Amino acid sequence: EGKADSSDKHRISRDDISVGRILGEGFFGEVQDGVYKSPSGERIHVAVKTCKDSSPEVKEKFLSEADLMRNLDHPHIVSLIGVIEVDPVWIVMELLEHGELGSYLEQEKYILTETTLILYCLQICKALAYLEGLNMVHRDIAVRNVLVASPECVKLGDFGLSRYVDEQEYYKASVSRLPIKWMAPESINFRRFTTASDVWMFGVCVWEIFSMAQQPFFWLENGQVINQLESGVRLPKPHRCPPPVYSLLSRCWSYQPNNRPKFSQLVCSLSDIHRKELEQ
Ligand code: ADP
Repeated sequence: EGKADSSDKHRISRDDISVGRILGEGFFGEVQDGVYKSPSGERIHVAVKTCKDSSPEVKEKFLSEADLMRNLDHPHIVSLIGVIEVDPVWIVMELLEHGELGSYLEQEKYILTETTLILYCLQICKALAYLEGLNMVHRDIAVRNVLVASPECVKLGDFGLSRYVDEQEYYKASVSRLPIKWMAPESINFRRFTTASDVWMFGVCVWEIFSMAQQPFFWLENGQVINQLESGVRLPKPHRCPPPVYSLLSRCWSYQPNNRPKFSQLVCSLSDIHRKELEQ
């Protein structure tokens, strides 16, 4: 039966996984690297997310991220390998050797070229256009949630805040742990999250990439951001950001959500800019 198949696909046995060192600290618990021996005998490098709280409510929240990732299949989205639903619960994902994009940008800032930075933006944009097609809102697009597979490939990870929304509908957020400096005005004012607010956040993420992972609005307190946005202030052009890219960002930061471009359009524009950059 169809439903059983899709959940079986991701059922794996703990005996087939050996965990190694700690990669980082997630919201629910530590993330460790490891090796998974697949049924075909292949050895796959994985990241294992653990959950330190074993109460049913927390476990359910923790596993809801894996539930969303189960249905996704895109070259620039971190793929889910499996879930272990018996205590201690684990989420097993493909390992992205180079870790978070934010730290990678800081380490490699003297080596990375503008062309590569545009490539990263294009890859993230393709992942988001794919989510746009599924009516899925990510809500937390930032370099801390992008992982680096290789110097030429980044992937969107962390679906902790993602939700499916019906077309024209939106997800009304209740959480207080919100990334204000990345958020669209309607998200700050009314907790309204849509694909259009994801487009705004993508613009901020592109700004972070060309600023080599500086914090957006680091010169402001969270509480000052909305006034600035409402009086028309926007993040300035980073030195390394090509003018055609910055002009796209200005459109992503239109006050009216309807005036912002779609991810599918942004993919076309960024592809053009990337191609011209390669030809130079
Ligand atoms: P959470 O969303 O629960 O807060 P994250 O997804 O941010 O947890 O994971 C915490 C850290 O673990 C990340 O910052 C990153 O350094 C590391 N990490 C998570 N997933 C992977 C992965 N697939 N490959 C490599 N490192 C990862």
